[in-house]
Amino acid sequence: MQAIGIIGAGQMGAGIAQVSAQAGYNVFLSDVSVERAQAGKDGIAKIFGKLVAKEKLTQGDADAVLARITPVGEYAPMSEAGLIIEAATEREDIKRMIFAEAGKVLASDAVLASNTSSISITRLGQVSPDPSRFIGIHFFNPVPLMKLVEVIRAADTAQWVVDAMVALGKRQTRVPVVVGDTPGFLVNLGGTAIGTEGLRIMQEGRATPSQVDAVMRDTCGFRMGPFELMDLTGIDVNFPARKIIYEGFFHDRRMTPSPYHESLYAAGKLGRKT
Ligand code: NAD
Repeated sequence: MQAIGIIGAGQMGAGIAQVSAQAGYNVFLSDVSVERAQAGKDGIAKIFGKLVAKEKLTQGDADAVLARITPVGEYAPMSEAGLIIEAATEREDIKRMIFAEAGKVLASDAVLASNTSSISITRLGQVSPDPSRFIGIHFFNPVPLMKLVEVIRAADTAQWVVDAMVALGKRQTRVPVVVGDTPGFLVNLGGTAIGTEGLRIMQEGRATPSQVDAVMRDTCGFRMGPFELMDLTGIDVNFPARKIIYEGFFHDRRMTPSPYHESLYAAGKLGRKT
C-alpha cells in the first residue's frame, strides 16, 4: 500500500496526513470542500516553515513531504488508496454518512479506519462494505509529537487488518498498542476518571481549573492537567466523547458527565480553537 486517503483535515486529519507523508505514503487529504482540505495542508506547511527556520528540517525534505499530500474535495481519487482513515467531526451521523460514501470508492482489498475517540468501531463498521476490513486507529493530539497510537480491533476485524495497522503505525514512527473496542478504548477511559473528577471538584467550588491542573502537573507528574487537556483537545471533541463513554457503560455513575462541560459545548466555547 502506497497511498492513504484521509477524510477530515482538521487538527487530527492534518497531523495524520503529516506523519503518513513523512513515512513515504502518498496522501489524499479531503474535507467538506477542497479549500478546507487545502487549509489542512497549509497548516502542515506552516509547521514545516518553523522547523526549517530552526534547522530541524531541510527545505528539500519539507518540499518532498508536502508534494506527497494532495488536497481533494471528493472521494473518487481515494479509489487508489489501500487505506482510508476517517478523522472528521466526532458525530456518529457524520461518520456513518462518510463510511457509506467512502465505501463506494473503496478498492476491494482496501481497509477503512476511524480515528474516533469514543464511538464504537464495531457499530461504525456495520455501514462499511466489509466489516472484516474495518478498524479503529486512534492517534493522539498533537499527532506529530504523540507517539502512541491505539489499534482498535472490532468484533469483525480480520487479524491481517490488525497486523497491517500495527505495521503502518511503526512505519509512521508511532508506538502502536492493540486494544479492544470498549467505550473510550484504553487511554480515554483512563482519562475519563481524571477529567470527570476535575470537573466535579470545580463544579462543587472546591478548586479552580488552574488549581486542579497545578495539582495534577506539579504533584502527580502529568504533562498537562485535565482542564488544559480539554482546552487543547476541544470541547466539541471531549464533551461528546464523555457522553458516549457514559452511555456506552450503561450510565455508570463514576462516568457521569458534567453539566458545566455541557454548557461550554452549548455556548460554543470550545477551547483554543475558538
Ligand atoms: P476538528 O474539528 O479539528 O476537525 C474535524 C474536521 O472534519 C473539520 O475540518 C470538518 O470540516 C471535517 N468534516 C466535518 N464533516 C465532514 C465530512 N462530512 N466530510 C469530510 N470532513 C468533514 O476535529 P479533530 O480534533 O481533528 O477531531 C477529528 C476526529 O479525531 C474526531 O473523531 C475526534 O474524536 C478524533 N480525535 C480527536 C483528538 C483531539 O485531541 N482533538 C484526539 C484523538 C482523536
